[in-house]
Amino acid sequence: MTAAADTRNSAANKHFDLGPAAELVSKEEGHRQPLAPEFVSLEDFSPLEVAYDFGRVRREDIEAGPRSIWRYKSLLPVPSDVEQHPNTEPGCTRLIRADGLAKALGVKKLWIKDDTGNPTHSFKDRVVAVALAAAREFGFNVLACPSTGNLANAVAAAAARARWDSVVLVPSSLERAKVLMTAVYDGSLLAVDGNYDDVNRLATELAGEHEDWAFVNVNVRPYYSEGSKTLAFEVAEQLGWRLPEQVVVPIASGSQLTKVDKGFRELGEVGLVEPTPYRIFGAQAGGCSPVATAFKEGHDTVQPVRPDTIARSLAIGAPADGPYVLDTVQRTKGAIEDVTDEEVVEGIRLLARTEGIFAETAGGVTVANAKKLVENGQLDPDAETVLFITGDGLKTMDAVQEHLGPKATVAPNTEAVDEALGR
Ligand SMILES: *Cc1c(COP(=O)(O)O)cnc(C)c1O
Repeated sequence: MTAAADTRNSAANKHFDLGPAAELVSKEEGHRQPLAPEFVSLEDFSPLEVAYDFGRVRREDIEAGPRSIWRYKSLLPVPSDVEQHPNTEPGCTRLIRADGLAKALGVKKLWIKDDTGNPTHSFKDRVVAVALAAAREFGFNVLACPSTGNLANAVAAAAARARWDSVVLVPSSLERAKVLMTAVYDGSLLAVDGNYDDVNRLATELAGEHEDWAFVNVNVRPYYSEGSKTLAFEVAEQLGWRLPEQVVVPIASGSQLTKVDKGFRELGEVGLVEPTPYRIFGAQAGGCSPVATAFKEGHDTVQPVRPDTIARSLAIGAPADGPYVLDTVQRTKGAIEDVTDEEVVEGIRLLARTEGIFAETAGGVTVANAKKLVENGQLDPDAETVLFITGDGLKTMDAVQEHLGPKATVAPNTEAVDEALGR
């Protein structure tokens, strides 16, 4: 056994300081167990989730906090001195009023939560920052993950900041930009022959063998996934401490969608907002839409698929949180749709044209689904809506490359320009 694993085992009965986090609870039957780097209940074999003992949480304290997700530390499973340790300090991304896109979609009041502005240009910095903070408290010093790309970027960068080693596993078919944006941080990046679901299976095996590696989305997943709640917290704070009426969230493993819901509920529970009703809509790409299919067919389990879509960051054929996404969407009276790859590209271009935001394919999935949900009458055009744009277009340029370019190549004189522009 390694020294790090030894340290952790001898600390098994220690009380970990993870702020308001009190214990782990199994999602199916609610079995409780102490906080630890574990992700599945040995009682009912369902995923473990963090349960809290929230103290008094006041708007003023949050507003006086740092301009990062750590302003919400009183609602996250992180040590109370979390901001003292090097991390990527993600969050506090802009929420912009999207009147141009609203007009194009035919809805009244639309907002974009623009998470392209995070340190490695996707929402994954949020979950990784929380995973790193919890992993440090548990005594780990290697950060690892299987990834469809964005997580790889975020893990490699956060490990570099923390001066930890990183082990990142990606499918060998990954986009060039995402490979470069991981490799530059100089951790251990391995391309695996196989799709994401193969890589994920490999990571689960490795997590069993290397007890001193914190796999952010495997053995520390309960903490990691809580990071997605910060999207909900920020939206509520940016709206002036209230909840929106509808949100559209992209689905990969489904974790983000379920945690946006958990975030909204907790805000109501601690009294930071009025617990007004909201509807959560899920967005998938047709080439990998197991959750949308289950929703439309009225199933409560998700049948795995083999992904084939340009939206690679969402290409998880066997989504771990699929059934919980179905529960959440049903409970909040939302819906789940899917769109073709052509619609994804059109969604990217529509957002760029109307709002000046260049999103990656996942953002195209969200915009295109919002359009479809309005057209088929599921999204209420009169209700205030927030779209989650979770990654930057610079990461997936291959997807739009063949569709875009200059209008013309002209000689360096004014006549040539006027002629090319038809003026
Ligand atoms: C990972 C990811 C998501 C959603 O991930 P979940 O696994 O469903 O939490 C959404 N958008 C982008 C860009 C991502 O990288």
